[in-house]
Amino acid sequence: LRSFTILFLSCVTIITRFDWCFSSITTSSFSLNAVGGGHFSFDETSLRNAAKDFGNRFQYQPIAVMNPESVSDIANTIKHVWLMGPTSHLTVAARGHAHSLQGQAQAPNGIVINMESLKLPGMHLHLGADSDSDSDSPYVDVSGGELWINILHETLRFGLTPRSWTDYLHLTVGGTLSNAGVSGQAFRHGPQISNVQQLEIVTGTGQVVNCSKDENGELFHSVLGGLGQFGIITRARILLEPAPTMVKWIRVLYSDFTAFTRDQEKLISSENNNAFDYIEGFVIINRTGLLNNWRSTFNPQDPIQANQFKSDGRTLFCLELAKYFNPQDIDFVNEEVEKHLSYLHYIESTLFLTEVTYVEFLDRVHVSELKLRTKGLWDVPHPWLNLFVPRSNIHKFAEVVFGNILTETSNGPVLIYPVNKSKWDNRSSVVTPDEEVFYLVGILASAVGDSSGNDGIEHIEGENRRILEYCERNNLGVKQYLPHYNTQEEWKAHFGPKWESFLQRKSVYDPLAILAPGQRIFQKAI
Ligand code: FAD
Repeated sequence: LRSFTILFLSCVTIITRFDWCFSSITTSSFSLNAVGGGHFSFDETSLRNAAKDFGNRFQYQPIAVMNPESVSDIANTIKHVWLMGPTSHLTVAARGHAHSLQGQAQAPNGIVINMESLKLPGMHLHLGADSDSDSDSPYVDVSGGELWINILHETLRFGLTPRSWTDYLHLTVGGTLSNAGVSGQAFRHGPQISNVQQLEIVTGTGQVVNCSKDENGELFHSVLGGLGQFGIITRARILLEPAPTMVKWIRVLYSDFTAFTRDQEKLISSENNNAFDYIEGFVIINRTGLLNNWRSTFNPQDPIQANQFKSDGRTLFCLELAKYFNPQDIDFVNEEVEKHLSYLHYIESTLFLTEVTYVEFLDRVHVSELKLRTKGLWDVPHPWLNLFVPRSNIHKFAEVVFGNILTETSNGPVLIYPVNKSKWDNRSSVVTPDEEVFYLVGILASAVGDSSGNDGIEHIEGENRRILEYCERNNLGVKQYLPHYNTQEEWKAHFGPKWESFLQRKSVYDPLAILAPGQRIFQKAI
């Protein structure tokens, strides 16, 4: 029986390889099967596109791009690769919107699955009962390749909206759930991975499995924040809440870092948890300009006051807040905003306020993207560094990083805001510091100058290295978000006590290490 199985697997391997080679010679794409409806592409343009990402630093071409229409296309593809066994070097990467920074969605000489082409079945909304419990709250079922911006528009048609976001919505569900999905709503709702009820997964053996906390819970938690290592997310059930129509968008400035973080922490604490719906912050290091402000379409009502404020070259800290509302509640909302601003310790003349629609607020980064694109400043290398810094070390971190390392600042915003760990599920694969409050620090540089100049890639990478070395040397307990490492030793250190279970989960759900090779955690086969 054993030798028959091996013979059978070899035949499958040869036939499958023959199909691919044959197709690549005769035609640029061919139909995978009649049921799934998807197709492979082998043409140079498709392969070149599949080797690009937002980071614009790593480019590894696959040998084929699969454009699935339904889950069976994905399952069949992975099953073929699985049946080829460990001697084949073929790997498979799901590619969402490819907004990775270091080739994480690429598959060198493997197969890239273009998740955005997965459309079946379409989005389905469940309105839920009028209750506060998650068990019958409204939700939407979406494809793993759906963009969050499309989900926003679809759910708004029913007066509903997802609860937790990223700052930028032109990312796919599968891409952000494979990391965490963090923005200014995370302090209250947790990251996006805390707002998912069910998933449909294609594992590394080609099995299609439904999972939730209660059904196949181990797979469910593995995949969330799992860097694409345990399966491909083909569908997700996203929790929804009633949508507001308008947003009060507020910015206030601090010159004192202690006052800034104290106020941020006060606002995310349980007693003020309802004060604002979104809490973020950023560092202003003596710079202005489009690249630094790209996250923002912020246009305060009192620009005269804004213009009068002079930073005199100081490093400033901007607290960014949002309060959602519907126009009929405006008086109450104004009172609430005034009440909560009254106990904050920002520089008095620096209260900047504007009102925008909910969609304008959530989709704010896209407006800046369009501006940067017209100036050729979007498709540049992005040596971003995203870190989770424990609250107990945020002052030490800020003193050295903002005071000594980023003194000239790089081209791009520097985000800093706290979240509550109690809103993160420790069973997921994502790694966070071991403290109830930790900060997300995003140093989001664009490399626009000569490679060795101050705005160039080498200079920025050097700054990033100095930051990481400083954190390491001083045991600050910092963890990388959207992590990138070159060796398994570094990954082990990143996962710390979670490494053993990460390894165990990999051996169960993707034993040949077929999936997401661009993360460089495992080599096929482990
Ligand atoms: P991709 O880059 O295509 O894929 C990322 C990884 O997930 C790859 O390893 C890929 O193989 C895997 N993957 C993709 N789809 C699936 C799937 N369906 N199933 C399993 N694995 C899959 N992140 C935040 O948390 N908060 C932010 O505010 C934020 N803002 C951003 C703003 C910009 C301008 C950019 C470029 C990125 C931002 N990010 C943010 C980071 C972003 O969440 C991640 O880079 C995310 O992975 C991008 O999604 P994507 O669809 O482009 O994924």
